[in-house]
Amino acid sequence: MAGKLTFTMIKPTAFKNNNSGAILKIIYEAGFIIKAMKLTRLTPAQAGAFYEVHKERPFYASLVEFMSSGPIIAASLEKDNAVEDYRTLIGATNPENAAKGTIRNLYATNLQQNAVHGSDSDENAIVESDYFFSKVEQF
Ligand code: ATP
Ligand code: MG
Repeated sequence: MAGKLTFTMIKPTAFKNNNSGAILKIIYEAGFIIKAMKLTRLTPAQAGAFYEVHKERPFYASLVEFMSSGPIIAASLEKDNAVEDYRTLIGATNPENAAKGTIRNLYATNLQQNAVHGSDSDENAIVESDYFFSKVEQF
């Protein structure tokens, strides 16, 4: 059965460009409930650990540099079928391929600075939420 939890980050460029409010509006209007949220900034080590699955990829170093370059908003979101529905809402990784009206279509700067992260599995949604939020910070 699909899980109810996913995890997102509003990435540094989208936060810096003051797009957080518009992105959160889209998230609410799609029926997601915010279970936890914070403004924070990843250290290079934290960004590297978060994207460790990509460490052999040529873009890893610049991805880590970008993700630690400024504040982000981290949030855990609840909805039926959360992981899949959120990935539909944000659109394809490359904004050039993101469907019209998706968050990445509307707010990405480029392939790397693509506005938001979304968990890729129920298991990772829990790992990522627990990485950012303690039990008392998840409602
Ligand atoms: P995310 O994990 O951030 O939700 P995703 O699951 O859609 O994104 P991944 O394949 O996990 O895509 O890539 C992680 C992130 O790495 C992308 O969101 C993007 O910021 C960056 N990225 C992916 N491919 C490239 C690339 N070819 N060049 C530069 N950056 C890239
Ligand atoms: Mg991913």
